[in-house]
Amino acid sequence: MRKPIFSPTKLTTYLTCRVKYHWAYMTPYGKWLRRPNPAFAFGSNLHRALEYFHNMGGADRLSPEAFRAVVEQLWSHAGFETAQQSEAFKQTGLELVQQYYDAQVQEPSAAVVLFTERTLRRDMGRYVLMGRIDRVDEHPDGTLEIIDYKSGRAEVTEEQVRNDLALHCYALLLHEHYPDRPLWIAIYALRPNKKVAVPIETATLTEFHELLNRLVAQILDDDWAVLNPEWIPECAECEFLELCLRRLGLKLPNRL
Ligand code: SF4
Repeated sequence: MRKPIFSPTKLTTYLTCRVKYHWAYMTPYGKWLRRPNPAFAFGSNLHRALEYFHNMGGADRLSPEAFRAVVEQLWSHAGFETAQQSEAFKQTGLELVQQYYDAQVQEPSAAVVLFTERTLRRDMGRYVLMGRIDRVDEHPDGTLEIIDYKSGRAEVTEEQVRNDLALHCYALLLHEHYPDRPLWIAIYALRPNKKVAVPIETATLTEFHELLNRLVAQILDDDWAVLNPEWIPECAECEFLELCLRRLGLKLPNRL
């Protein structure tokens, strides 16, 4: 039997709302009710642009004009609600990649890009952990830095990096391939054009590994016949709200 696959998105969905996890991953509604997601589409376009930028050798090899032209060419309308919305996001995207480009010129890094946009999998025993890593840099001392781009955040702090579930999953995935290398995890917030990085110690990674195993065991052994949704702030924007109201008797809060 194939082992169940868990990604950071799937785990985060469960931690946000187990009923949402049920709809999204255990029923066909997850596909049927998928909505256009402009924020996700915007992020995907920026990821593609930055992947191209680094694969082409960065600012040393690519002029700002050529980079801008490529971003326009690579831009995909998929996932936006209208062409106008896509265009508005594209203009913001062009500004963000321009400031990213400028920062690379002003403060060139001594690190080299090891890879970008790569999906890694790791057999974790009862399940498979899978994650798509935005970028990994290799520093001159051998340290590997896992970088996660965020296109919506106005700010990023060390605490956010230390608490980021996806980055810890990526560290576990990378650690399997590079067990002797020191690892850092980082969020690069594209709007403020700011990167915050912290080291991740082996003990922390071991502790996270155990927590992750317990979380996945909880999901796999959960009693999915019992679903009692309760209103949380995320319900207001949830694609499964109608289902929860009609099928599971979710009660709207009084103030609505
Ligand atoms: S509507 Fe609320 S309770 Fe129902 S799945 Fe969505 S977030 Fe969960």
